[in-house]
Amino acid sequence: MVHINHHYLKLRAGYLFPEIARRVNAFAQANPQARIIRMGIGDVTEPLTPAITKAMHEAVDEMAQRSSFKGYGPEQGYGFLREAVAEQDFRARGVDISADEIFISDGSKCDTGNILDIFGCDNRIAISDPVYPVYVDTNVMAGHTGPADESGRFEGLVYLVGNEANGFVPELPSEPVDLIYLCYPNNPTGTVASRETLARWVQYAKASNALILFDAAYEAFISDPSIPHSIFEIEGAKDVAVEFRSFSKSIGFTGIRCALTVVPKQLMGTAPGGERVSIHQLWNRRQSTKFNGASYVVQKGAAAAYTPEGRAEMRGLIEFYMNNARLLREGLTAAGLTVFGGVNAPYVWVRTPAGLGSWEFFDLLLSKANVVGTPGSGFGAAGEGYFRLSAFNSLANVQEALQRIRGVL
Ligand SMILES: *Cc1c(COP(=O)(O)O)cnc(C)c1O
Repeated sequence: MVHINHHYLKLRAGYLFPEIARRVNAFAQANPQARIIRMGIGDVTEPLTPAITKAMHEAVDEMAQRSSFKGYGPEQGYGFLREAVAEQDFRARGVDISADEIFISDGSKCDTGNILDIFGCDNRIAISDPVYPVYVDTNVMAGHTGPADESGRFEGLVYLVGNEANGFVPELPSEPVDLIYLCYPNNPTGTVASRETLARWVQYAKASNALILFDAAYEAFISDPSIPHSIFEIEGAKDVAVEFRSFSKSIGFTGIRCALTVVPKQLMGTAPGGERVSIHQLWNRRQSTKFNGASYVVQKGAAAAYTPEGRAEMRGLIEFYMNNARLLREGLTAAGLTVFGGVNAPYVWVRTPAGLGSWEFFDLLLSKANVVGTPGSGFGAAGEGYFRLSAFNSLANVQEALQRIRGVL
């Protein structure tokens, strides 16, 4: 008899994106003439930029020559990329992070899930609501929760509610927690955390011996100079935080796959006997055993984002998407909707009109405007009554989607 990980059975059957796909496919089959505009899943649409493409072509050519061929690389990533990240993403901002605190990987989605390997089962886990579903589901899979209730909330997790009153930046937990997931700029709400907010979290984590898992996948989209790009810009954060970053959204690597996780060497956890153990060493052990490094060609491409040409091209991509975000924000606001986000993040978070539920608004936009977004309730119970639209699209599609949405409101 094969025993399965029965915790998987707690995962909700109607997972968000498959359900969206099901409804869109059903509509498309019934209405083959409809030109559907997809603004649902957060996937980029612009191709790789020239500097990155060139670097990757060169890396392939190196691999094709005996003299420069490379087999397995370091599990932690190549020095050239770790150095570039440490220097330009951190030290240039006055943040003291060294190259060996940076672990290159093939994605932040995997890293945020895999990191649970090195933590015990007795942690109390705090998760925002609404939230990027990966944090919840990976904890369910790891057996850290009980079953879900009617609203989809899992027993054993501490939900931190984001709402209009707190600007979708949840308050500190009112009960003790050990692991805290934060994501800023936020997916799905498009909101950001101020320096003061992050300082409050760092202070809380210090006082309660908690660890913050900080997802900065969208840091490159920050335009407001007062907003921190890294939690390590906050004094003392190196004692209490791990940070995840990704090349997926900044340089269009969702299909190429490259990300990084920053694990400060001074970060400590506690073993059952009470001794303090280096989290950096545990993560290094985990990665060395279960991961064989991101591809050389891909890391060469990512490193090209740190050259002057690569930087400029990345800025161009981000400006392109953020212009879409601005159009969405302004257009939907002008149409009478209440809109959040879209200033420092490529998502706009819309209050559904006239008491429509998230899925009702989804069905309305799909059937009447042929526009696909993401129902807020798919990101958690507190997302009910909201709707996410992504700025990752062509300008023409954004303009047309706006025009069609205005027509049905
Ligand atoms: C897109 C995204 C990521 C990036 O995931 P990858 O696996 O690196 O593509 C991470 N976190 C959030 C919240 C995201 O939306």
